[in-house]
Amino acid sequence: MPGYVGVRVGKTDGANTEFETAEEVGLTIAHELLHQGGVVHPTENNASTDVRLNRDNNGGPNDYLTTPNNDPSVLNNIMLYNLYNVNGTNVGGL
Ligand SMILES: [Zn+2]
Repeated sequence: MPGYVGVRVGKTDGANTEFETAEEVGLTIAHELLHQGGVVHPTENNASTDVRLNRDNNGGPNDYLTTPNNDPSVLNNIMLYNLYNVNGTNVGGL
């Protein structure tokens, strides 16, 4: 197990640098620390059934669907990336 957690606080396209907000950095740190404890993304096959999401085979590469086993608050799970859409709702827009 690594002895550190790295978090990128900005991104650049060569001309411009855009920094994450303090909230975004904090959420990313919490996300990465949970990984260190063995928590996986809800989109991974070994995620627990209360959070495990299925790929939407009729959607795009970032589209997922809930299952009857999911906790109703799964869309707020800190282990989801903002680019994911769950049941047609963009997680980043929540
Ligand atoms: Zn992650």
